[in-house]
Amino acid sequence: MSKAVSKVREAKLELYRKKGTIHAKAVGGRFNTARWAMVWLTQIVFYGACWLPWATEDGIRQAILFDIVHEKLYLFGLVLWPQDALLLAFALILAATALFFVTAMAGRLFCGFACPQTVYTSIFVWIEARIEGDHLARLKLDQSSMSARKLAIKSAKHGAWALVAGWTAITFVGYFSPIRELLPAVAALQTGPWESFWLIFYAVFTYVQAGLAREAVCQHMCPYSRFQGVMIDAATANVSYDRRRGEPRGARRRADAGDCIDCGICVQVCPTGIDIRDGLQYQCINCGLCVDGCDEVMDKLGAPRGLIRFASDNTLAGAPEGTGPGLRPRVLVYASLLLLFSALSVWTLSQRATLRVDVLRDRGALSRETAEGRIENDYTLKLINMEEAARRFRVDVHGLPGLRIEGDAEFTIGPGSIQTVPVVVSSPAEAAPAGARPIEFHTAAVHGAGAAISEKSSFILP
Ligand code: SF4
Ligand code: SF4
Repeated sequence: MSKAVSKVREAKLELYRKKGTIHAKAVGGRFNTARWAMVWLTQIVFYGACWLPWATEDGIRQAILFDIVHEKLYLFGLVLWPQDALLLAFALILAATALFFVTAMAGRLFCGFACPQTVYTSIFVWIEARIEGDHLARLKLDQSSMSARKLAIKSAKHGAWALVAGWTAITFVGYFSPIRELLPAVAALQTGPWESFWLIFYAVFTYVQAGLAREAVCQHMCPYSRFQGVMIDAATANVSYDRRRGEPRGARRRADAGDCIDCGICVQVCPTGIDIRDGLQYQCINCGLCVDGCDEVMDKLGAPRGLIRFASDNTLAGAPEGTGPGLRPRVLVYASLLLLFSALSVWTLSQRATLRVDVLRDRGALSRETAEGRIENDYTLKLINMEEAARRFRVDVHGLPGLRIEGDAEFTIGPGSIQTVPVVVSSPAEAAPAGARPIEFHTAAVHGAGAAISEKSSFILP
């Protein structure tokens, strides 16, 4: 086997070798504070938003609810139907483009600060540290043989993790099934089959991903870490080690020594267990904790901060500091797409009809003649009122002289409801030559604007 092939094989095997849990040393600093600010912000929103109420004509409902059973998405005063799928598609495209934009500017910033995997791992590690102690105590505990003390500590940790995972699952399912009804059902063990499945699945998922798998998810399971390389370039600011300043590393007593004293703090605080001094690696989530760790060391040494910092390859190669990532073609493309899809979303939302009408001709009877000599055709109208208030609609028909609706032409449709109504349309027999003639149903709200729609159909004259 050639040397190159055996090197590749060794690298692949390294991926799957059990390395044990990484117990990173706790560190304070700007990036640690920013990370915890994001943990608080995202979790206050996640755990809190499902409890927000929203008043409607029908009473109080959950402000944010993905009502799968009734195929509606409630977002405060906005109710989206399956017909609004385009808006959801725009939202997904916007989220993906925003991720590309941030990556092009500042690498895996999302991973380090806002990704649910990072956020929940931080919470689970925080719980672990409260129960088991600092990173050295945790290492010692892991390496010790099983004892009553170890069993008690580990049980307490896994119990606390299970509680957080369980509450996270209830919150998650509470966005799809009203949480004020879900919680008593969970307490009484009376959840429905799909709720039970997702509660168990999401609790186990959270427990395994954030408690057991942790950084292995970022290293081996997350596809984003693998394709981030195509989104970054030499102008992207990533957490980087300033080799020109730091090398040769070692004790500063040496005359030729760089600023890196090889203390290893940057490695000890890294949640993915890598050495940033080896260069940009796919395992790096740009969390900035090694920056905090190294800044502390530099402060103690009285050296300037920033031996490890957010910097682009260009800056590290000597480009002036602070020139920033700059507006390169890829950044301009992502920014343009962001603007385009934001504008399209706003426009689609402003043009969104809150009334839908389907017209079906009764195919059983083509037409019939009345005693007064008029021709009648039967139709079925499906009226969908997409607003949360009951509304009255008036239906008119156009397309032939003397065409009219026989009987009631106004209908009241309940909030967020679909109603099917039979309609009889009549025309003078001499209105047009025999055959199918195009006509149009015009439906509009009796009060208020913004809900008018025209649907084409045909009228049969014998
Ligand atoms: S923390 Fe700073 S000084 Fe210490 S090893 Fe890392 S780069 Fe060198
Ligand atoms: S190398 Fe630094 S920025 Fe990257 S994951 Fe480790 S601590 Fe975070």
